[in-house]
Amino acid sequence: IEKINQKIAAKEKFFSLEFFPPRTPNGAVNLIAKFDRISMGCPLFCDVTWHPAGDPGGDKETSSMTIASAALNYCGLETMLHISCANTVKATVTKHLMKAKTLGIRNILALRGDPPNGEEWQALDDGLAYGTDMVKHVRQEFGDTFTICAAGYPNGHPDCPTYEEDLQHLKEKVDAGSDFIITQLFFENKTFFKFVKDCRDIGITVPIIPGIMPIQGYASLRHLVKLSRLEVPQWIVDAIEPIKDNDEAIRKYGVQLGIQMARELLESDDVPGLHFYTLNREVATKEILTALGLWCQDPAASRPLPWKPSANKKRVCE
Ligand code: FAD
Repeated sequence: IEKINQKIAAKEKFFSLEFFPPRTPNGAVNLIAKFDRISMGCPLFCDVTWHPAGDPGGDKETSSMTIASAALNYCGLETMLHISCANTVKATVTKHLMKAKTLGIRNILALRGDPPNGEEWQALDDGLAYGTDMVKHVRQEFGDTFTICAAGYPNGHPDCPTYEEDLQHLKEKVDAGSDFIITQLFFENKTFFKFVKDCRDIGITVPIIPGIMPIQGYASLRHLVKLSRLEVPQWIVDAIEPIKDNDEAIRKYGVQLGIQMARELLESDDVPGLHFYTLNREVATKEILTALGLWCQDPAASRPLPWKPSANKKRVCE
């Protein structure tokens, strides 16, 4: 079976979609139905975020694993599970990876993660210190079982004293065995293109996939900016402030901006595909992908295959 890093390296431009795990049974039902609809658009993969024990949003480790397994085993989607080592001892990280392997998951976004409640980062005595240690751990314990993705920061990681130092740490993650990189969201393509050039200049050769977050609402944008510690450029602030109480107008603006950014990114030979932070609301992302012609136009070609517990088959969209 072709691994996703091989598919990423193929000439075809692709897209992937990120979701967070549900908090309630109803949320799980909705998300599985969403995965089923989304699979018709033929994403290369979908990924599920990880929220470790002690996370202010609640301990959702089990939920991440379960929903990733459902996307893979019920909806036939190629799935990537994020796993972080924050607040987790090494033995527990291994246990999570073992479980993911048993469920058939073969793609991991290996992360350090963040400490709970905004505390300063400190590794546990018997834990892993950085993303690099996490990548090394996955390779050491599981060989080539998993395709490994690492997180990259076009604006530099906010904890790192300098952008250059953070780039070196990204190189360490790649040298430790990461197959590709997905970036943190950014608001201007020039930030991403500079980052890619800087990565290439220091010898990072793996694919770098831009992470795009369509602006879908004023409150959610403010929340995300706070979480990721990014600044919104003034020209975007100026555009959305006057329409901040009009959800539909903001959504439309987000879709138009997303289309513009995505078009320009796809023109680069060094952009193999696009990764979307959907915030579990796929409508805006779908509109952008449809406008770009990336959303699969032939649903008949991507009909779900009957689910078989032992022989999970992937849909064929070619
Ligand atoms: P690292 O690569 O370890 O970097 C963290 C900091 O440590 C950086 O400042 C880096 O420069 C520095 N550093 C690295 N190595 C060293 C070293 N040897 N010496 C000194 N400093 C060093 N969070 C979640 O909780 N769940 C998720 O599912 C999730 N998904 C994400 C997906 C993407 C694509 C991205 C970009 C981020 C995601 N995050 C997620 C957020 C992420 O957990 C945080 O940004 C976290 O602070 C860093 O994780 P990392 O793996 O990139 O860390």
